[in-house]
Amino acid sequence: VTRADRLTERLEAEGLDALLVTDLLNLRYLTGFTGSNGFAVVGRELRRFVTDFRYVTQAAGQVRGFDREEGPRELHGALATGWPDRPLRLGFEDHAVSVKAHGKLREVLPDRVELVPAGTLVEDLRAIKEPLELQAIAAAAVLADEALEAVLAQGLAGRTERAVALDLEQEMRLRGAQEPSFATIVAAAGHAALPHAEPRDEPIPPDTLVIVDWGARLDGYCSDCTRTFATGRLPEELAAIYALVERAQAQALSAICPGPTGREADAVAREVIEEGGHGAHFGHGLGHGVGLDVHEAPRLGQASEQRLAAGQVVTVEPGIYVPGVAGVRIEDLVAVTEAGHEVFSGLPKEVRVLA
Ligand code: ZN
Ligand code: ZN
Repeated sequence: VTRADRLTERLEAEGLDALLVTDLLNLRYLTGFTGSNGFAVVGRELRRFVTDFRYVTQAAGQVRGFDREEGPRELHGALATGWPDRPLRLGFEDHAVSVKAHGKLREVLPDRVELVPAGTLVEDLRAIKEPLELQAIAAAAVLADEALEAVLAQGLAGRTERAVALDLEQEMRLRGAQEPSFATIVAAAGHAALPHAEPRDEPIPPDTLVIVDWGARLDGYCSDCTRTFATGRLPEELAAIYALVERAQAQALSAICPGPTGREADAVAREVIEEGGHGAHFGHGLGHGVGLDVHEAPRLGQASEQRLAAGQVVTVEPGIYVPGVAGVRIEDLVAVTEAGHEVFSGLPKEVRVLA
């Protein structure tokens, strides 16, 4: 059973005859194609893959189980033809199709093809990983860990946040990563209170906390991890915040298994942080799914009713951000298994001092 077959079953359950797949990660997932222009039509009797002349050779090597076509320069033009001679409900990825693109599709499609918003059908499939996908994500996590260890060997205090971030990205590429899976975060002291801080040209001070949030993309799959380091003797307030996040992370991690909703998992960490008096300083969700995309289904947060299920890969990343003072985040990358979970992140979580 191919991924496209599994998608077809879901389509039929939704009353759709086919799905137009335009999101490039979804396209890659279903067809194997890694280029930047193409689409697929997936249905019981429809397995079309269309790209432009630049990618014809690449597609011939990558795309299996689809009828490959070279489309016109404006690719959607290929959708004018190739349909069965009967009315047809064609789903489209409404979260990934612009209003303009939708207008063009409607113009080009025959009248008997009805365009139906289909939501995140492929993303839902992607949320449950196959064994080889789990291996790829685990390998990306190992590579990222090794890259960070190499960078930490030179210490943190006195180097600029930007220099550390660039060094880490370089180390990941040197070890075989295609690219960082997102822009590396290195943020010290008060700057770390911004959960998505951009590295600055500022030297990292001694005796404070530094958040490093980084990941590698390897064979298309992402890793995502955060550690917070000390650059010397920590003031009592910072040591206390660190200990609280460490405890919240450990408890949330132990709750990761098939069954609970994203909201329930989030609540485990949130309760610990609220009891410690920092509820107002944990302003984001507990975590998110990771795969071909660094943020994908499922979400773990206060508004998530999605249930954790075996085969998902999620992050567990509570944080405390005290404006102007400091930030602490500890993030593990975790696979949900039948028996509970398996942690892919390998670096220790107790506070580590790097002068
Ligand atoms: Zn992260
Ligand atoms: Zn994350």
